[in-house]
Amino acid sequence: MTLNDARNRPLHDLRVSVTDRCNFRCTYCMPKEVFGRDFPFLPRAELLTFEEITRLARLFVERGVEKIRLTGGEPLLRRNIEELIAMLRGIDGLRDLTLTTNGSLLARKAEALREAGLQRVTVSLDSLDDAVFTAMNDMDVPVQRVLDGIEAADRAGLRPIKINMVVKRGTNDQHVIDMARYFRGSGHILRFIEFMDVGHTNGWKMDEVVPAADIIRTISAEWPLEPVDPNYVGEVANRYRYIDGQGEIGLIASVTQSFCSACTRARLSAEGKLYTCLFATHGHDFRALLRAGDTDEGIGQFLDRVWRARSDRYSDLRSSYAADLPKVEMSYIGG
Ligand code: SF4
Repeated sequence: MTLNDARNRPLHDLRVSVTDRCNFRCTYCMPKEVFGRDFPFLPRAELLTFEEITRLARLFVERGVEKIRLTGGEPLLRRNIEELIAMLRGIDGLRDLTLTTNGSLLARKAEALREAGLQRVTVSLDSLDDAVFTAMNDMDVPVQRVLDGIEAADRAGLRPIKINMVVKRGTNDQHVIDMARYFRGSGHILRFIEFMDVGHTNGWKMDEVVPAADIIRTISAEWPLEPVDPNYVGEVANRYRYIDGQGEIGLIASVTQSFCSACTRARLSAEGKLYTCLFATHGHDFRALLRAGDTDEGIGQFLDRVWRARSDRYSDLRSSYAADLPKVEMSYIGG
């Protein structure tokens, strides 16, 4: 079954946040000033159980979802996440099961994740320079810990590995070439993400955005690139490959080249609210239905209604929105 929204976009990708907690405090996502020691993170009882997540995931897959991405906060902080992965792996029709992590816990978990059925991973890494990296994640975690995680994931066979670098002017944009040089020829796909005005706490400014076109120009000057067709309609990153055969990179240009017209992504928060856009202001509560004993049919019909009514296109219309729009925090719905 295919389920299209009000702009005829099919439901294809589900991003599932399994925790709102993280062991990093990346300034563009979870600034320490807001998410401090006393921040009221979700109590365990309010998190969806693995059984509840799997039951919902099955209903999404029945409606056309082929790809599930596990996110957080930091998903590897959720205890026994391997059990959830094994449960999701058992869903007929699920083609792609992946996970986005900050990589700090990956070195000791990679093998178990693979054995449980995870297919691949995306690792966030904003610089190879320890001073810049720790300034951006606001924790004393060295780059080497993340590089060890990437290596362990590669050894475990979690491929292809994608590396996400959020580029912020005046913070780490001077390291774009270093990152490109490091991952060229590695087989891993480095993606550059434009700094986004997600949530309402990261102090976003347009002049701290480095447009994707500038990043392409900078890299092409060193190593010529050519565009590559998307793997599927709705793929987030614009793909490029090095003409000398040293691999591929991606650009996620939500600010300067918005892609809402082909957006097929739904996001489920750790407490069971469905968000139909990364920049949404409210979610739809599925946990209440689950815990009220509703049937699969009833919950499925609610999902149909929510998705069919979806008309989000925030990035296309960014400038027309008020700067203080109470957008959901990215750390709560997993980017
Ligand atoms: S802004 Fe919303 S609708 Fe547009 S691409 Fe992002 S998540 Fe999709």
